[in-house]
Amino acid sequence: MLFNDIIGQHEVKQRLLQSVKENRVSHAQLFLGSTGSGSLSMAIAYAQYISCTNKQSNDSCGNCKSCVKYTKLIHPDLHFAYPVALSKEVRTSTNVIQLWREAVLSNSYLTLNDWFDLLEAENKQPVIGTEESAEILRKLSLTTFESEYKIMIIWMAEKMNTSAANKLLKILEEPPDKTVFMLVCENEDLLLRTIISRTQLVKIKKIDRESLEHALVSKNNLSLSDAKNIVNLCDGNYGTALKLIGENENAESNLISFQDWMRACLKFDMQKINTLLNEFSALSRERQKNYIAYCLHIVRECIMINYADKNLVQVTENEKSFLKKFSPFINAGNCLQFNDELNKAYMHIERNAHPKILFMDISFKFNELLNLKTPQPADQ
Ligand SMILES: [Zn+2]
Repeated sequence: MLFNDIIGQHEVKQRLLQSVKENRVSHAQLFLGSTGSGSLSMAIAYAQYISCTNKQSNDSCGNCKSCVKYTKLIHPDLHFAYPVALSKEVRTSTNVIQLWREAVLSNSYLTLNDWFDLLEAENKQPVIGTEESAEILRKLSLTTFESEYKIMIIWMAEKMNTSAANKLLKILEEPPDKTVFMLVCENEDLLLRTIISRTQLVKIKKIDRESLEHALVSKNNLSLSDAKNIVNLCDGNYGTALKLIGENENAESNLISFQDWMRACLKFDMQKINTLLNEFSALSRERQKNYIAYCLHIVRECIMINYADKNLVQVTENEKSFLKKFSPFINAGNCLQFNDELNKAYMHIERNAHPKILFMDISFKFNELLNLKTPQPADQ
């Protein structure tokens, strides 16, 4: 990770670069920033710069032996600790290091939710436990392999439980020579005061509008007007921006699937339902949830059209023309059940329900609901 890969945050980059140039790298630092601001990326870029053997004035070289290992996050003197879902097999970060590397390399702005989705452990509590602390101490007791410094990045440090945190107090106060701790944290209120007092604060602000717009145009190929729209919605959070881009891309295909599904349910076209069911179950769990959330959005907009202020309806042109025909099917007699069924489906997907059974059940239900006699809004 180069400083150059990080969106905005110019002041912090300069300060960190300066600390290396002046040989005053603090042994314990707290990278504090809200979700999606890039604190983890910043810690990794800083670590890479410390370790780079051909430092440029504003960034790591990207080519030396150390940098090459850093681009794969496999440098032997770079260590990570992060929350995991404890189980028989998973006791510490080391047990899921491969998945962690892939996750961070594909999106270093990842959130704790993203990480737990990847671990398929959404319902478990993310924790950095006591065994992790022991593992951290063990890793730092090793001599360095290739670098002058050993670096330990603890991501979401606020997820350390009290005994894990207490175990680290001593080493944070008197770390072994040439060891740097980088604690990455979103909410310092959840960190022990004794931990905070032993670290030097590196405050990461939300990403400024201009840098974020520029990144969305150059990295994500958005038009300037689309980029501006997303910046208005994402509050300096690049993670949210990425999600919104994904949702926009999905919206069109979601609409087509929803139209097909409702037509098939209305007539109970088994063949079509089967095709859609196969398509649905082939999606990742996240995309299934995204689709159900989209269906909920459409149902809500139908209710708004029928019973509330039409001016509050937020739909695209394509959705608008579909809803002209479809909204009468969502009425006082069935709208609550529609909503209820979709909410339940969302919850069941989160809990690992079998997608085919779920989709079939809900299709039966929708056939019933869509064929209920339609009371007109004026009758209510
Ligand atoms: Zn280098």
